Amino acid sequence: MLNKEIYNLINSQINKELFSAYLYLEIANYFNEKGLPGFAAWYTKQSEEEVEHAMKFNAYVYQQGERVVLEAINKPVVEFKNYREALKAALEHEKKVTSWINDIYALAVKQGDFRTQKFLDRFISEQTEEEENADEMLAKYDLASKEGSLYLLNKELAKRD
Ligand code: MG
Repeated sequence: MLNKEIYNLINSQINKELFSAYLYLEIANYFNEKGLPGFAAWYTKQSEEEVEHAMKFNAYVYQQGERVVLEAINKPVVEFKNYREALKAALEHEKKVTSWINDIYALAVKQGDFRTQKFLDRFISEQTEEEENADEMLAKYDLASKEGSLYLLNKELAKRD
């Protein structure tokens, strides 16, 4: 049995992860429409990963003998003015996800729910990675769009082992 408050947050996290999948799909579609299938492929993969996250939270609820109550998924209302804005939206969103995960973790600590803490550990690490990737994506984009040759040279130098 899960503490009611923890249950509510985890149940709603399923919805939030699925919303993340929607947002990334929106970004993928945007890049596809702009003729940038590489970016689109990257964000499609991101979208798939978010569905996997939702599934993990879903499974955890059932492992604890509770049942999931699925909620409606919000429409991602995003009209990107330019490429950078789409990349920035991903970073901002991941920061929000981090704070949601942290909130559940904090509550699990407060309640002495070690099992939920252990379950969440992978998501705490995952969020470090997600924010780092989103941040790196922006930095790469900025460098590539402003100094294309330098971007390529940097990529070449990175190959040395
Ligand atoms: Mg996620």
